[in-house]
Amino acid sequence: MEKLLVLTHVDESGAVLTSASLESTAAGMEVAGALGATLLIGIIGAQTEAAAKQLAGAGARVLAVSGEAFAQPRYASDAAACEALCRAAEATLVFAPASSRFARVVPGVAYRLGGFVDTHITALEASGSLTASRWFYRQRIEAVVKRETRPWFLLLEAGTRAAYITAEGQVQTEQVAVTLPPLRTNVTGILAPKQDEQTIRPEAKVLLVAGAGWTKKQADGQVHAAEAETLILGFLRSTDASLGSSKSLVDQSGENQPVLKFMTHMNQVGQTGATPRHAKGLSTCCHGEEPHVVGWRFINERRAINLDANCGWARGKADVVYIADAFKVMAKVNALLSAKK
Ligand SMILES: Cc1cc2nc3c(=O)[nH]c(=O)nc-3n(C[C@H](O)[C@H](O)[C@H](O)COP(=O)(O)OP(=O)(O)OC[C@H]3O[C@@H](n4cnc5c(N)ncnc54)[C@H](O)[C@@H]3O)c2cc1C
Repeated sequence: MEKLLVLTHVDESGAVLTSASLESTAAGMEVAGALGATLLIGIIGAQTEAAAKQLAGAGARVLAVSGEAFAQPRYASDAAACEALCRAAEATLVFAPASSRFARVVPGVAYRLGGFVDTHITALEASGSLTASRWFYRQRIEAVVKRETRPWFLLLEAGTRAAYITAEGQVQTEQVAVTLPPLRTNVTGILAPKQDEQTIRPEAKVLLVAGAGWTKKQADGQVHAAEAETLILGFLRSTDASLGSSKSLVDQSGENQPVLKFMTHMNQVGQTGATPRHAKGLSTCCHGEEPHVVGWRFINERRAINLDANCGWARGKADVVYIADAFKVMAKVNALLSAKK
């Protein structure tokens, strides 16, 4: 019988599991149920009692590695913790969220245990045996993978399934001892942009995409880059949406053209950019050409605002297209949002 271990870790607060960990938990519950496998959940964090309570009702044996050494993400301690949990669980299948903390250690742990790892898993199917799907070549080819090798490690992409809805309650946790190697790395702090400067927010429900139209001459023959900046940032601040861009807009910074200062190539969505996953997307001043729209593959509900009734979005690529001036529409939307606050 398969023994399925879900590896999880606490978030930056140290008190609760990350939402990606809860997604992997949901995946583990579903697959273990379908395969008739034993389900175990392993937690890593400085303190794990509060996080363990979130797993009440999951129907799993809960193992934990805790202690000050596990407060911070670090290869040596995290790999040792994951290895100890896998050995204690005698796991044949291991699911882990593809967080930055786990994505870098799980392949090494698979090697230590003589197993095999598959990364970027977006879907699982468990009828009879387990198959895992992932995309190659910028989401053009979908591979369905099945393996005999055990333990088989699967790093699950965040945002690909609903998170386990926690049912607070008492959970019996088994502490697993870890023999740590000498630790040479110490995380002394995190340098990150302020929340309102950070425009890429993978957890956001809405993606706002800005296209090159925002910096093009408008009906009055003038460019309105400063106004565009105010409108876009105003929307992001009111909604906590994530900001995407077309390639044309982010490429302009190298061409001495009017630019939106908060945009970088990291925001670019599309064939040569990112493929974000959000429930809804709103495209503004972007033409909706195929190399851009291919990056919208995982956006469920798509809307676009464009002056051009013949733009790419209007040709079946969006659910709703507003043929309108995005400057006016976004000003109105922002006014409605601030009236609502
Ligand atoms: C190999 C290859 C890879 C590529 N990879 C990518 C990629 O990863 N991502 C990507 O984005 N592109 C990519 N491209 C480029 C892509 O083909 C398009 O050129 C690009 O997406 C166009 O950007 P845009 O729509 O913002 O600009 P434009 O084509 O200039 O469109 C601007 C739009 O703004 C509209 N507009 C202007 N003013 C307003 C207003 N006031 N209100 C409403 N609408 C307005 C206009 O009607 C127009 O439709 C790639 C191209 C190639 C060849």
